[in-house]
Amino acid sequence: MAKVLVLGGGFGGVVAAERLAEQLGDEHQITLVSRSRQFVFYPALVRLAFGKSALADVAFDLRRTMLDRKINFIEAEVARIDPAQKNVTIAHGEVQGKLSYDYLVFALGRRLATERINGFYEHAHHLLNVDKAISFGKAAKEFHEGRAVFGQCSGARLPVPVYESAFALARMLEANGERDRARITIVSPTTLESELVDPRAAGVLKQAMDTHQIEFLPNFSINSLTHNSALTESGDGINFDLLMLLPPFRGSSAASYLGITNKDGYINVDANMRVAGREGIYAVGDCTNFEGPKMGHMAVRQAEVAATNLAAEIDGRAPVSHYQHEMTLVIDEIGPDSLYLHKDLSTDKPATVRQGRFWSWAKRVNERYWEVSHS
Ligand SMILES: Cc1cc2nc3c(=O)[nH]c(=O)nc-3n(C[C@H](O)[C@H](O)[C@H](O)COP(=O)(O)OP(=O)(O)OC[C@H]3O[C@@H](n4cnc5c(N)ncnc54)[C@H](O)[C@@H]3O)c2cc1C
Repeated sequence: MAKVLVLGGGFGGVVAAERLAEQLGDEHQITLVSRSRQFVFYPALVRLAFGKSALADVAFDLRRTMLDRKINFIEAEVARIDPAQKNVTIAHGEVQGKLSYDYLVFALGRRLATERINGFYEHAHHLLNVDKAISFGKAAKEFHEGRAVFGQCSGARLPVPVYESAFALARMLEANGERDRARITIVSPTTLESELVDPRAAGVLKQAMDTHQIEFLPNFSINSLTHNSALTESGDGINFDLLMLLPPFRGSSAASYLGITNKDGYINVDANMRVAGREGIYAVGDCTNFEGPKMGHMAVRQAEVAATNLAAEIDGRAPVSHYQHEMTLVIDEIGPDSLYLHKDLSTDKPATVRQGRFWSWAKRVNERYWEVSHS
């Protein structure tokens, strides 16, 4: 019998645990540990903020879903991992002390490094969890005039909700007849081309921004905030009445001291999703060291690869599945101009870019599929 511990109840951890349960016999034990029993479908948080999705459509109870699949679930905070002793120390939660394992899947996501931006906690909204999305949505509904600024700090690596929330605000103001009283600006630490990894996609998005009178300010890397202005290191500033800003991301602190990460704390893995230089440990999702944005569909694909290879390893077979780093995104909330982009990030081949209301619909079908298959 093998004891498999999966850490993290997000896209990566849930899919890894589910695929392992499908592939391993009942004699093996799979346990998922996460700090909350709630799974959050993050891509729907912009819609939640703007009152277009209900909380029940965005979050579901992980414990019941895992039990249905014969996976143990433990609600607990992971403090550290000891690969030499093959155990995980729990800081607090349903169990105390250490959990031992034979094989480990690390899927603890990324950390929000808000401490790197002075004044972030006091002055910025973001929408990277349910509570913050709801409080940003409330502020957006109370915004009727002035300047709204949207953006990411350097290292945030998540463009989709920045653009979606700016478009959602523009469309809300248009519908209320208030668009002329407000200025909407998106700031980026780089350029539109590098945020979308493709010049053609950047052109299509720029056109949609022009249609909705959304300004774009490139190479504006925010590093401190006051109550009404955002400042860069070189002293440039922009005033705001409403700010939605994504803080820098870093790797999970539970992996930071193990010597398995890059300088930003992301875990180095091989194409089989095995942690480089550590036997029996796999890592998937936002916590891993790959170029480009951090996205849920990447976490899902990586989890499928890791689970297939781990099941083979337990069975005494060689790895059979390889991860290919591709990006697919849909920028919704633009209505008929919704943008679909697919790019193989391991080659120079141009991206596939599509536009139309269909992509908005497809994104929601995907959301609904997750909800139905996990509740
Ligand atoms: C607003 C928003 C919109 C997005 N839109 C898209 C989109 O359109 N398309 C797309 O593909 N992606 C999108 N993403 C990105 C996507 O949600 C992430 O890439 C995905 O959630 C990563 O999955 P993960 O399992 O690696 O990490 P997470 O989903 O972050 O899961 C990590 C899990 O580990 C738990 N955890 C963390 N630390 C500990 C600890 N110490 N102890 C115990 N448990 C712990 C967390 O509670 C969580 O359950 C969006 C994200 C946001 C926030």
